[in-house]
Amino acid sequence: MHCYPAAAKIGLTRRAMLRGIGGAALTGLVAGCAGRGGASLAMPVDPAATARPDLVDLARFDPRLRFDIRYATPANFMGRVLYPLPRAVAQRPVAEALVRVQTHAEAAGYGLLIFDAYRPWRITKMMWDETPPDKREFVADPASGSRHNRGCSLDLSLHRDGAEVAMPSPYDDFTPAAYRSNTAAPPEALAASRMLEGWMVAEGFVPLANEWWHYDWADWRLYPIMDVPLEDVTAG
Ligand SMILES: [Zn+2]
Repeated sequence: MHCYPAAAKIGLTRRAMLRGIGGAALTGLVAGCAGRGGASLAMPVDPAATARPDLVDLARFDPRLRFDIRYATPANFMGRVLYPLPRAVAQRPVAEALVRVQTHAEAAGYGLLIFDAYRPWRITKMMWDETPPDKREFVADPASGSRHNRGCSLDLSLHRDGAEVAMPSPYDDFTPAAYRSNTAAPPEALAASRMLEGWMVAEGFVPLANEWWHYDWADWRLYPIMDVPLEDVTAG
């Protein structure tokens, strides 16, 4: 996901802020106002995005990578399954850089644990449509799209022999503890986050300031916003 500065400002977790969204959406439906102004929204086209998309399945691209695709389970901030299958997909140059990061991590006794990568635009729109207007600051606006829609963002952590490494906060638990500027977490968690950041930056990724797990490929603007279903990506 992306940064949600207002949530951080008032010190609430995104999970707490979004709890009950399903009920709120249902109330809107009963009131006849669900989807108002958004139902006919078309996927945005970025004229600056000139690169040819080349999405690959990360599990096939590098079998060393490990995955915990939260949006393919109910264990996410929406509280229900959003992806039809647990697949992580990214543009080929992003995947190639990630392979190099995995190699750096292995040399230090770690491995990469991927939470999310390419996200079809329809999922971003679904998140938006099911979020009440007063809470939409917490989700990416489908009118402008998410960098995850371009296959250029990765949400990831580290594991050691399959065990998830402690980080400054849980994944997708948006509090100031998730900020890269957080210095209050246990020293080993901060060190792990910075170690991952060092490897990612060295291979061309840009860290998001307020989410230790989120990285954008430096050339993300070159790639279009896409809505290819995850199940249709079979290259690796
Ligand atoms: Zn993200």
